[in-house]
Amino acid sequence: MPRQYTYGPFRSRRLGLSLGIDILPKNKLCTYNCVYCEIGPTKEVVSPEYRIKAPPSSNFRKELKDILKYVPHLKSITVGYNGEPTLNENLLDFYTITLDVRRDLKWTNEPPLITLFTNSSTLYSSEVRERVKHFDLVLAKLDAATENDFISTNRPHKDSPDVNTIVESLVKLRKDMPTKKLAIQCLIYNSYREDFISNDNKENIEQLAYAIKKIKPDIVQLYSIARIPSEYFVYAIDDRRKKQIVKTFKELINNNLIEIEINYY
Ligand code: SF4
Repeated sequence: MPRQYTYGPFRSRRLGLSLGIDILPKNKLCTYNCVYCEIGPTKEVVSPEYRIKAPPSSNFRKELKDILKYVPHLKSITVGYNGEPTLNENLLDFYTITLDVRRDLKWTNEPPLITLFTNSSTLYSSEVRERVKHFDLVLAKLDAATENDFISTNRPHKDSPDVNTIVESLVKLRKDMPTKKLAIQCLIYNSYREDFISNDNKENIEQLAYAIKKIKPDIVQLYSIARIPSEYFVYAIDDRRKKQIVKTFKELINNNLIEIEINYY
């Protein structure tokens, strides 16, 4: 039977051996159209209020079980990848079945984390946070902390909350999930175009640090473009620059409880 929901497992530097779960329709569904998106341009950017009802079919449990029994050393079962998974109202149904299947199987070491990727655009909704807070690890995107950088980097839907609201919603999510792990993912890139200022600018980097200081995540993951980006004019920052940004973050955040790491794919 062809697979409907899962792909991999594949080795991710961030998560270790990870099984991907896609809970969206096969075409990309996203509230953003990031300049660096590695799965191509978003054909129709949707509002963060947009919802789909796509409950797991009876195949989901079976498909998950059939694969997981071959990878008892798996590190993460990861929901995300094809857009913004919180747009699916049935996110929690997928989580509950995954939890159930994980409980029934035998694992070599610790059972894999149930992880969620989100671009953070829908987290202002308490209903969405109520679903998201159950995941063991939430990887939440925050590439920009000034409105200009947010608009030019993530190119959000016109109904998207502003960047301050997004930061405040991450502060709320942190409080909603005190025993779970929250990671903030910052993708920083550069631009070849003189008339396009990338998010690697002094003001954005400083404002990002202040936003992170407020959010108090467990981890900050700094990374850059690793595959073909949506726009030809953006490119990855180098390792030296990543290290400088980590240094600036550390100085301005000044909180040893927040781990700041550079991520490579
Ligand atoms: S949020 Fe993710 S999927 Fe959506 S456009 Fe940005 S990088 Fe692509």
